[in-house]
Amino acid sequence: MPEQTSPASPTSPKSYRHIILTTYPGQSGVEPVPLEWGAPDAKSRGPIVVSRSGNLVKRRNAIGAHGGSYSIYNALAIAAGELDADFRPDLRNSEPTSKFAQQPAWGDKTKIVSMDPYGHDIVNQYREELEAGWDIRPTMAITRANMKLAEIGEAVKEGKLDVDGSIIVDSSGEVRVTKVAVEPVWYLPGVAERFGVDEGTLRRALFEHTGGSYPELITRTDLKVFLPPIGGLTVYIFGPPERVSDENVKLALRIHDECNGSDVFQSDICTCRPYLAFGVQEAIREAQNGGSGVVIYFRKEGRALGEVIKYLVYNARKRGGDTADKYFTRTENIAGVRDMRFQALMPDILHWLGIKKIDRMLSMSNMKHDAIVESGIKILERIPIPEDMIPSDSRVEIDAKINAGYFTTGKQYTMEELAQVRGRGWEKWEDITH
Ligand SMILES: [Zn+2]
Repeated sequence: MPEQTSPASPTSPKSYRHIILTTYPGQSGVEPVPLEWGAPDAKSRGPIVVSRSGNLVKRRNAIGAHGGSYSIYNALAIAAGELDADFRPDLRNSEPTSKFAQQPAWGDKTKIVSMDPYGHDIVNQYREELEAGWDIRPTMAITRANMKLAEIGEAVKEGKLDVDGSIIVDSSGEVRVTKVAVEPVWYLPGVAERFGVDEGTLRRALFEHTGGSYPELITRTDLKVFLPPIGGLTVYIFGPPERVSDENVKLALRIHDECNGSDVFQSDICTCRPYLAFGVQEAIREAQNGGSGVVIYFRKEGRALGEVIKYLVYNARKRGGDTADKYFTRTENIAGVRDMRFQALMPDILHWLGIKKIDRMLSMSNMKHDAIVESGIKILERIPIPEDMIPSDSRVEIDAKINAGYFTTGKQYTMEELAQVRGRGWEKWEDITH
């Protein structure tokens, strides 16, 4: 970093004398640390400085706060006196467990706009600044773990998957996995472009519809980076991580959007958990065959509408006659849209991983498919969830989705036929509720 950008005293404790509602370009002392999104390497790009601690409120080059949705808990901890506002993390030994080779997309401001491509490596890249007391934090972390999924244990027992001692380590179905957690970091001009809107429109909507929480979205148009208070994603890699970007081996991939009720608690109204388990199984299989298997889990509960909306929709479905022809209308009635996941930003992580083609795409979603292909990654084969893994009450969901354009190798229903696909009612619930 050039000398003139070093702070005089980045930790000087005068932050709580008065409230700084916002800052303006050209205001006395306002001098953001240079940040050039899309520069060819981390050092020339510059660190992302979002902290308002001490003098950094005038030096920061990004809007928002670290931690995604957890930034609010961080604020609560400070309010409760549990956490010092000027706390600096001790990042010793927190470095990634595997090295991911830099990909051309890391330095391409059109390919990656919703995460910091150097977010896992800041201890290494910005050592000097950290030692000088700057508050710069990782927005990514890479670790390794063993995991146990009931369905994988079953598959091993039934002989559908082999114990190889390396990926599946034993007959109980214990699996070794490399995990990459990513918090959102948005480059606003790039995000606006993905949605086909101008940056001003995006900034204004983000400002107004988060209760005016981030006034710098309006006053600091010179700051192009925003850390939004939303959930991130986790990459689960089976087999050696370096194989993911290797074009010469096959890649099986599932992109999965969060559905807590099904993923964790195995509610049977949708196909989420079965498809996730199938995705993990096929990712493991591909890795065992010398290829690579990746499952990416996005925190976008209930099509990014949240569980309250989701349960309201469930009630409207069950009370209004739960048939597949009305499936999307029920959501639109309550949420105004049928889906808010907007897959436009999703391919960023694939480009970060260096994926150029997907041999086996374990998803039926046309929205995911189109976003990936439009971003320049080829999909060679699409694999629907096997019929025998679809729970009976989830036929309403899956048949409605197939009718709306989801990929299938099976039957595509007409609207007339969809009216006959009916979910389970609430009959016999009186036994429990009375
Ligand atoms: Zn679900």
